[in-house]
Amino acid sequence: MGRPEARADVRLMEGYHSPQVDVDVRLNTNEAPEPPPETFVAALKVALDGIAWNRYPDRSASALRARLAEVEGRHVPGGLTAANVFAANGSNEVLQSLCLAYGGTGRRALSFEPTYALHTHIAKVTGTGVVEVDRNEDFTIDLDRAVEAVEQHRPVITFLCSPNNPTGRVEDEATVRVLLEAVERVDGLLVVDEAYGQFARWSAQALVHEDAPVVVTRTYSKTWSAAALRLGYLVGPTWVVAELEKVVLPYHLDSITQIAGQLALDHLPEMEARVERLVAERERLVEGLARLPVEQWPSGANFVLFRPTGRDGARVWSELVERSVLVRNCASWPRLEGCLRVTVGTRAENEAFLAALGEVLGVVAL
Ligand SMILES: *Cc1c(COP(=O)(O)O)cnc(C)c1O
Repeated sequence: MGRPEARADVRLMEGYHSPQVDVDVRLNTNEAPEPPPETFVAALKVALDGIAWNRYPDRSASALRARLAEVEGRHVPGGLTAANVFAANGSNEVLQSLCLAYGGTGRRALSFEPTYALHTHIAKVTGTGVVEVDRNEDFTIDLDRAVEAVEQHRPVITFLCSPNNPTGRVEDEATVRVLLEAVERVDGLLVVDEAYGQFARWSAQALVHEDAPVVVTRTYSKTWSAAALRLGYLVGPTWVVAELEKVVLPYHLDSITQIAGQLALDHLPEMEARVERLVAERERLVEGLARLPVEQWPSGANFVLFRPTGRDGARVWSELVERSVLVRNCASWPRLEGCLRVTVGTRAENEAFLAALGEVLGVVAL
């Protein structure tokens, strides 16, 4: 029997790898360590009774998008309406929709590496060419090199992740403005991935405007403590949203997700309090790491990138797993040789991580 072959480029691809090992302390995927409020879960259970199960969901997710426009519109000078919001199954589906609508054969997406691997992966899956621009040694963006690359390659999409996964770096307003101007000159779209946006003091949402080619993507997976939900969205000009609506599958967003997404937004102060607690915990984690023989990079998110000094990163990762602590192994990733990324967990999880790492690195507890 003959077997069909997948597309040549797909056959050469590697899938998305994030091993889920059964351990006590899971600090590898930047999830929130705390569940969402019980009142949210209770309200959702009640709301489920109101779903017309025999009917398709609201295809345009209009109520959810209107609520998101209200909440996120606080950060946008002119405010937002539902027509400025596109929602999908996780921000990964938002990114995929962007690549489907704007990418494709003969077009290019540009990324600043190292960054979130899914940007280039999703671009490739949609047949979009990829241009990777190296960051500086300290993971900052060399603006001259960035602008030059945009002008040379004329990417239709330029991805900017801020706070950047996995380095933690937050870009300032001046940097984003310079990139936006460069992107505008080549008729491109700037996609700012703010999966960790609530951890940062400034949001690129401030630049969202009907006449500006910039969109900002966000997710319920991290700060909203709802990775199980699979809900993400972007805010941007109405003309971008209109194109995305054409490429996404009809009824892609089920009724439960739409309702849960709205109800979660009723708990904004709780989310902000969780973010504050995580920032305080991150600072404790950073202080703990500073006492160990590791190099670490400043983070504006819920994770910290570090590199054990003089030790093989992959070995350290395995020895942490042996102690029932799972972090993200970036040791073999290009430009991240020997690096590991730890998600900020609960106080107890962070303590367990630091104790295990101290042991692995042969440091006696102080
Ligand atoms: C976690 C993460 C996402 C989230 O993807 P979802 O599909 O919404 O879970 C998007 N971008 C970055 C940079 C991330 O780290």
